Amino acid sequence: MVSPTAIPYLRRMRPEDLLTPTPAGVCCKVGGFHIDPTRPVERAVITHGHSDHARAGHGAVLATPETLDLMRLRYGESFAGTTQAIRYGERIALDGIGVTLHPAGHVLGSAQVAVEANGLRIVASGDYKNVADPTCAPFELVLCDIFITEATFGLPVFRHGDPQSEIAKLLRSVSLFPERAHLIGAYSLGKAQRVIALIRQAGYDKPIYLHGALDRITHYYQSRGIALGDLRSVRNVNKAELAGAIALCPPSALQELWSRRFPDPVSSFASGWMRVRARARQRGVELPLVISDHADWDGLTATITATGASEVWVTHGQEDALVHWAMVRGLKARPLAIVGYGDEGESEEAEPVANGEASA
Ligand SMILES: [Zn+2]
Ligand SMILES: [Zn+2]
Repeated sequence: MVSPTAIPYLRRMRPEDLLTPTPAGVCCKVGGFHIDPTRPVERAVITHGHSDHARAGHGAVLATPETLDLMRLRYGESFAGTTQAIRYGERIALDGIGVTLHPAGHVLGSAQVAVEANGLRIVASGDYKNVADPTCAPFELVLCDIFITEATFGLPVFRHGDPQSEIAKLLRSVSLFPERAHLIGAYSLGKAQRVIALIRQAGYDKPIYLHGALDRITHYYQSRGIALGDLRSVRNVNKAELAGAIALCPPSALQELWSRRFPDPVSSFASGWMRVRARARQRGVELPLVISDHADWDGLTATITATGASEVWVTHGQEDALVHWAMVRGLKARPLAIVGYGDEGESEEAEPVANGEASA
């Protein structure tokens, strides 16, 4: 990055000239593109495949190869007029504006978008987590002047803890109740595959059963070299065989008729929201697993600090607490109040079904 203090004459551009928050998402007017637009636009740079960020119907879509593949899987071949795959670290110019993608550690293919001109760099991080995940590239810290962050878990009460200890809790329950099946609700893109990989890391090598809605994305992960072991469909498997088994399904399926094919199932749910006991109780979750693909409070605040940004824009989630935290530390901070993010996965009340999948 060109240091703005080293070359003060370059610092003519105001942040809003480079990226402008609009109701449809953040827009780079000079570069002629939007980032994760919530409405159809001419040119979109997409951070990751979750449906609140990656929508069908744009003229041109620029994203990592994996995000483009996932959009294709979900929306079909003609989800955009044209597509352009950009690898992590590859620098492209859009009407003179530099754009690079960097791993966001959120799901396979997820990227932060660094936008640069005249020595000013803004990083739009999409959704991210600064925690190891065997199913995607680790979050890369990018120094910047302005950091655009989510705030899904932007309250000090949210501390996700160690995902492996949650998996240990699951495996203890499995060995304690060998006659029962364990049904884990997990969003179809990212969470399901990460939970499977974590179970494998813990040494569990028996077959893991999948709800049909998780098939395609999970097989795509495997095709990208993510090792998930022996996965089987629950179709045509009889009830007795599922005693002691682990199965994953979209969260909505936990309450559905589908779950009755399992012997006395233990209802489990992998989500950052499971930190809130009332939420688990409300959903009838017997075994809550606090596993999230979003940064928790410590992750958000540590990341903002580490970027060196003097200004923070907060896209969605618990904006107020994070904006307040930043201002107390002498940073400029503003909520962007973009309508339309967080409706997949982050907000469990509304689990949209895209191509028959509930997700995130
Ligand atoms: Zn997401
Ligand atoms: Zn999101």
